[in-house]
Amino acid sequence: MPVYKAPVRDFQFILHEYLNLGQYKDVPGFADSGPELMTPVLEAAAQMCEEVLFPLNQKGDKEGLQYDNGKVIMPGGFKEAYEMYVEGGWPSFTCDPAYGGQGLPDVLNMPLMEMVCSANLSFGLTPGLSHGAYNAIMLHGSDALKKKYLPRMVSGHWSGVMCLTEPQAGTDLGLIRTKAEPQPDGSYAITGGKIFISSGEHDLTENIIHLILARLPGAPSGTKGISLFLAPKFLVNDDGSLGARNKLRCDALEHKMGIHASPTCVMNYDGATGWLVGAPNKGMKAMFTMMNAARLYVGVQGLGIAEVAYQNALAYARERLQSRAITGARFPDKPADPIIVHPDVRRMLLTQRAFTEGCRALALEMALKHDLAQRHPDPAVKQECDDFVQLLTPVVKSYLTDGGFEMASLTMQVYGGYGFIKEYGVEQYVRDARITMIYEGTNGIQALDLVGRKLPAGTGRYLRSFFHPVDAFIARHKGNPAMAEFTKPLYIHMGYLQKATMWIAMQGLANPDDAAGGAVEYQKLFAHVALAYVWARQAEVALRRMPEVRGQMSDSKLTPDIQHLTSEFYESKIQTARFYMQKILPNTISLLSSITSGSKSMMQAAL
Ligand SMILES: Cc1cc2nc3c(=O)[nH]c(=O)nc-3n(C[C@H](O)[C@H](O)[C@H](O)COP(=O)(O)OP(=O)(O)OC[C@H]3O[C@@H](n4cnc5c(N)ncnc54)[C@H](O)[C@@H]3O)c2cc1C
Repeated sequence: MPVYKAPVRDFQFILHEYLNLGQYKDVPGFADSGPELMTPVLEAAAQMCEEVLFPLNQKGDKEGLQYDNGKVIMPGGFKEAYEMYVEGGWPSFTCDPAYGGQGLPDVLNMPLMEMVCSANLSFGLTPGLSHGAYNAIMLHGSDALKKKYLPRMVSGHWSGVMCLTEPQAGTDLGLIRTKAEPQPDGSYAITGGKIFISSGEHDLTENIIHLILARLPGAPSGTKGISLFLAPKFLVNDDGSLGARNKLRCDALEHKMGIHASPTCVMNYDGATGWLVGAPNKGMKAMFTMMNAARLYVGVQGLGIAEVAYQNALAYARERLQSRAITGARFPDKPADPIIVHPDVRRMLLTQRAFTEGCRALALEMALKHDLAQRHPDPAVKQECDDFVQLLTPVVKSYLTDGGFEMASLTMQVYGGYGFIKEYGVEQYVRDARITMIYEGTNGIQALDLVGRKLPAGTGRYLRSFFHPVDAFIARHKGNPAMAEFTKPLYIHMGYLQKATMWIAMQGLANPDDAAGGAVEYQKLFAHVALAYVWARQAEVALRRMPEVRGQMSDSKLTPDIQHLTSEFYESKIQTARFYMQKILPNTISLLSSITSGSKSMMQAAL
């Protein structure tokens, strides 16, 4: 049976020491973000995830969903778990208080998102997508739509879904055919078919609010002629009560490789009544404004799987006895040593630890910058934070989801043959993680976004939001010998990133295939350097705090944010940072070499 313990300690470290949220207490929404208030919240979320959602994960995978003439029945226990989730007030955590939300920043919600995805990714998709739909209505809906739909969505009694994909229109949404005909009462009749709609139908909530991309009569072709519409499963009366069933139906469920407890629906809209969200023909723009948050959330799905996979690999490696350590028996009284003594097993485990703890810090920093881009009073800070988020969103979405799958696969490797056997529960992580690399824009499309849109933006303004702080960090710690083992590799590999960036920019103009052909590798190179920056900073905090903690452990006047931490915690941070710099970061060299070899070998080969 797999195990899961929420990494509360690491969340506390990142929020209160690494990001030092206390410095933002005057920014709206951040007043309650200190450890005194946040620790009990983190612990409550951890308990729900460990005790309610996690035990349903294997069950949901095994039992799957039932489809009955348009209805979808969730696996046993999911409905009750969802009710607890709603009663706990979790859906409303970051929502606008005007609609019943708690108004907290996203950075405080991210730990919850990660824990839910570790515990039960299939379960997490319904509230996660619903939050995306909330954001779209919040940002683009009329006051009347907000007033009617948001309070019940915020409370979690209704859920929301995003309906973009059609059989002929996946990545290329310009090919969408679903139509919306204006009606005399100001509503629209929506007709068409959508596929792959996550949580398009289920029995967890009283109503499901569909956000649908469709075309108005005479709309321009391509993405310029797409509008966004809201169509509820049950029409809503003016007093907020539920009315007649709308003309939309789940025709079938897809049979999938993983996330077996998440209903992926074939939806049919047969003149369904809907309302325009935002301006006509601006549906894609509306989607794009909420995409950064949605893509970060999918990245966190990969991270969540990586964390639970790592925990199981570690537990197994401590128990499983096979062979003797190459340098001599460590446990002579046992028939063999535990596999954790073998260098290759340690390589796999540390790769996982470096990935999960590094990516967690990066994801939380992204969420913080996203918050500051919206809430900070200083327009210059707002702009800088937004530039950082724009630049790093494709990097984070792709690296965290590629990594989620890779880390799950490493767990299978640590388990050996048992990893491939269903009863042990870890093969589910490999299956569940795989989709995150595909949906919310495939990782190949993320790379094109990075290279084609984000690099040239504002003649390199987005890039500066990353390059400048890294340069400043290196300069600040130049004279610190304890930091040299982290800042030197960061400096060198940052140089490779700059070289690759220059090459992509110059070569992209001369031959776009070169830029597009190297985009995925460039994205990976970028991510490796971003994580090096994160790890160097985590090491810096750890080096600074370790003597402080050692000196004060017996002192009752410990500040609340370090009460929970021991010097072993900081030592582990330094060891992992060292492993990252020596064993993972050098991958940038092969990536740079591949990028600068150009696209000829791909484009001229016969396929
Ligand atoms: C389980 C599941 C849940 C989903 N949930 C939802 C949902 O809730 N709502 C929703 O609307 N959709 C959803 N989707 C759809 C998902 O977002 C799409 O599958 C995804 O966007 C890719 O589209 P596609 O499958 O048509 O692949 P295609 O677009 O056909 O792509 C196939 C391959 O070609 C590549 N490719 C395409 N165009 C280019 C290009 N210009 N340059 C380089 N490479 C390119 C892609 O990267 C990919 O590798 C879901 C899908 C699944 C499987």
